[in-house]
Amino acid sequence: MAEEKTGLSVDQIAATRPAPISLKPDATDIRLVLEGTLPRCPFCNGTPSTHTRFFPHSGIYQSIVHCAGCMAEVMVNQRDREEARQDAIAHWTVRAPVQPDDLTAAAQLQRSGLITPEKYNHICENIRARDAVREAMA
Ligand SMILES: [Zn+2]
Repeated sequence: MAEEKTGLSVDQIAATRPAPISLKPDATDIRLVLEGTLPRCPFCNGTPSTHTRFFPHSGIYQSIVHCAGCMAEVMVNQRDREEARQDAIAHWTVRAPVQPDDLTAAAQLQRSGLITPEKYNHICENIRARDAVREAMA
């Protein structure tokens, strides 16, 4: 599509933009791994980690929760680094069955101060909505 409009390939268009900058892990990224507070990977039971990239041309932060065991990941773009990370954590926490009790996992994240109370409530709402859908489909 882009090729037709501009005569440039996707790679050429990408080359005109500054590359995303991988931000160094901050204290929260490190704590998440050291404390093991993120739910384990639903595919391989691996320990996930978080990292964030910044896109200078758009001012977007892209946070990723990633499993090094099987490369599963979720990715969220936001204007704010912390917001991006918290949303990525929220998505990771409500994905395919992760723990016997996802609400317990979310509560642990909130107690650790790694997510805000607002984000905790949001995660709980999503978990309940997901479980309701699963129950209806069972
Ligand atoms: Zn995995």
